[in-house]
Amino acid sequence: MSKRALITGVTGQDGAYLSQLLLAQGYEVYGSYRRSSSPSLWRLDALGVTKQIKPVTLDLLEFSNILKVIDKVRPHEVYNLASQSFVGVSFEQPLYTADVDALGVARLLEAVRTVDPGIRYYQASTSEMFGRARSSPQTETTAFYPRSPYGVAKLFAHWTTVNHRECYGMHASSGILFNHESPMRGLDFVTRKITAGLARIRQGQQDVLELGNLDAKRDWGFAGDYVHGMWLMVQQERADDYLLATGEVRSVRDFIDCAAQVAGFTLNWHGEGAGQHAIDRVSGKTVVRVNPDFYRPAEIDLLTGDPSKAEQQLGWKRQVSFPRLVEMMVEADLERAQKGTLGP
Ligand code: NDP
Ligand code: GDP
Repeated sequence: MSKRALITGVTGQDGAYLSQLLLAQGYEVYGSYRRSSSPSLWRLDALGVTKQIKPVTLDLLEFSNILKVIDKVRPHEVYNLASQSFVGVSFEQPLYTADVDALGVARLLEAVRTVDPGIRYYQASTSEMFGRARSSPQTETTAFYPRSPYGVAKLFAHWTTVNHRECYGMHASSGILFNHESPMRGLDFVTRKITAGLARIRQGQQDVLELGNLDAKRDWGFAGDYVHGMWLMVQQERADDYLLATGEVRSVRDFIDCAAQVAGFTLNWHGEGAGQHAIDRVSGKTVVRVNPDFYRPAEIDLLTGDPSKAEQQLGWKRQVSFPRLVEMMVEADLERAQKGTLGP
């Protein structure tokens, strides 16, 4: 008998890659999405999995809805990927973010516990919980210090997951994942904003790319590698918490330079702080500039993780290097821009 999995947030970046992975392993995959006038299926379409997924509507804000879905599907495994996932928005919508990302997880875990506490559960936790990190690189035991309403809400969800494991004996694991990207990443996130912006500029569809803090440093990996880590966590005999990261640090400026090269620009940087801008040596045009509107009320300067525990205990190893990740993203966006499918 094939295993049944429920993926919440199936329309998102990780939902699409995880669906692909589970389907390839013979799972029966139920994918939950929020009711809307037109659900956004472009990622599932791009990976060719839309028709193989059994759709169910589920909103993390509505307990009775969650309970009914879990009772109807009776999954062996639940992967909770649904969330208001954008840090920037969480400063503008802190209560909504807490309702979905914190209480939503408590609702889902309680629904699982009520229907069948034997269902295995994965929680999508985040390096944003480390925030103003107490030490570097971060590990599973580094103290948390979230710096955004998103990070605070996700920390509640993380401890709720740990608590359900320890209090109720549930097989509930929390994956503390560092930033992971792909050609399926949302356009709000800095990596995709850069690759889409450069592709549009190449095609003459945009003049200049405006960004906030170029000095922020992150540990960027490929989403396809990270969903494999999620699956490995759920297959372990005992549930636990694991951190997935590359251990490599790059600044937003490093990402721009790498992406610009793939897109055929050679950038020279000028100015400082809010006056920083990059000029393309060939065209003499300003391609990138800082716009302080994109600065955040509280910034995380540096995040980088040590994935030793996941590597040793799960046998997890990321496959895609940073330059290859950037190349994949830029090439996909150049193609979209050429076809006119990149949007405004
Ligand atoms: P996305 O933003 O691409 O996807 C989020 C998904 O959640 C979407 O399908 C969205 O649906 C859904 N969603 C939002 N609100 C609700 C709600 N109220 N009820 C049900 N579903 C909802 O995120 P990613 O795929 O990148 O990330 C997956 C998970 O991993 C998220 O929880 C994120 O916070 C976490 N994470 C991501 C990291 C990353 O670098 N990508 C790093 C660490 C953690 P809709 O399409 O309707 O908006
Ligand atoms: P996060 O790590 O989850 O917040 O992922 P993001 O991709 O949204 O942001 C990564 C870093 O890039 C943060 O430190 C941002 O402040 C920085 N950044 C600089 N300019 C921008 C921008 O224009 N948009 C976004 N989203 N982030 C930016």
